[in-house]
Amino acid sequence: MERILPFTDEHRMFKEAFSKFVANEMVPHYQEWEDNEIVSRDIFEKMGNFGFLCTWADEKYGGAGGDFLYSVIVAEEIARQGCRGVFAWLHSDIVAPYIGSFANAEQKERWLPGCVNGEKILAVAMTEPGAGSDLASMRARAVKDGNEYVINGSKTFISNGILADFVIVAAKTDPSAGTKGISLFVVERGTPGFERGKQIHKVGLHAQDTAELFFEDCRVPADNLLGGEGNGFKCLMQKLQQERLMVSLTAQASAERCLQLTLDYVNERIVFGKPLAKFQNTQFTLAEIASEIQVGRSFLDTLVLQHMAGKDVVQEVSMAKFWICEMENRVAARCLQLFGGYGYCKEYEISRMWTDARIQTIYAGTSEVMKLIISRGLGL
Ligand SMILES: Cc1cc2nc3c(=O)[nH]c(=O)nc-3n(C[C@H](O)[C@H](O)[C@H](O)COP(=O)(O)OP(=O)(O)OC[C@H]3O[C@@H](n4cnc5c(N)ncnc54)[C@H](O)[C@@H]3O)c2cc1C
Repeated sequence: MERILPFTDEHRMFKEAFSKFVANEMVPHYQEWEDNEIVSRDIFEKMGNFGFLCTWADEKYGGAGGDFLYSVIVAEEIARQGCRGVFAWLHSDIVAPYIGSFANAEQKERWLPGCVNGEKILAVAMTEPGAGSDLASMRARAVKDGNEYVINGSKTFISNGILADFVIVAAKTDPSAGTKGISLFVVERGTPGFERGKQIHKVGLHAQDTAELFFEDCRVPADNLLGGEGNGFKCLMQKLQQERLMVSLTAQASAERCLQLTLDYVNERIVFGKPLAKFQNTQFTLAEIASEIQVGRSFLDTLVLQHMAGKDVVQEVSMAKFWICEMENRVAARCLQLFGGYGYCKEYEISRMWTDARIQTIYAGTSEVMKLIISRGLGL
């Protein structure tokens, strides 16, 4: 079925160029990055050089001022070619937009060009050992001292945590004010008192570096406060729609890749003297999977259009984040089953698709948290 998104010739040319870039610059190195549990930082610089990062950024910061469809293309193409540990979409379309939307003119001048050209890699640090789903219970503190803030606390599970040069850190400036006491700070690599802890070894998504971060009497200039004191939670909430849309896009594209890998495999694999594809169980399983994928695609593309039109679709995006990420997990597990024992072997990509899928229902808000939001929307 043709997609409903209004891709123009420029989008199509961009997609072709980026697709080649992924094939040439990511795919050949991806296993090495998986083994090293981190991608090479020069992939960000290369993406920046070719204009593949922060495609939405204004020309005066080195961007192309492109619409959201360019972001869609980048996120999907990385997932479609099986390189999803390259969190360029987190950098460009989850973290950098905080700077794009909430930074003042001086801060944008200072930070955005490096984000666009890939010299500076971004991360966002909200989660703490004692505060994940319940973000409001975070304990990191930022205390104003003259023209500086002194940050103390720790963050965990931070994507791009080792590579990041700029980390947007959420900390409490007024612990008595609840969510209105949370502020955001840009903490730069090398700031005294900012240390990275150990890299976290995960069951999947190995190429993506995930780390603990520690802040001990870490002094940041007051000029690094983003969006005003006490506005941190509001800023985070404002960006959740796009964050969850981005994760849904990667989940959808990954489910599509699982189907493609499996279609190829079942046509080649011979069992009981005929291709696996010729068994009714295979056909029905793949028919069910293809139907789920199509439902996800139609819903997601509709949401992309509404997001681009500036509509508040937080409820619907929460549904998409919940359903599409769960669907990706179902699809990956069922596809793996069709590979038999080979599906459980690392040399078959479907095994990685399955382990990589597992995080999708957890980060950027768990499926349970999505259901909380959806049920609130139902007036429950
Ligand atoms: C690989 C990875 C990358 C990540 N990247 C980042 C990042 O870049 N930046 C960042 O800030 N964070 C990041 N996170 C953190 C992630 O967003 C959290 O792990 C997630 O929000 C869940 O928080 P938690 O792990 O503390 O689980 P908890 O909040 O302890 O949840 C445990 C269980 O309880 C359930 N639960 C919680 N509250 C409720 C409720 N009210 N009702 C019903 N059930 C509930 C949850 O759904 C879950 O099943 C990452 C995590 C991982 C694993």
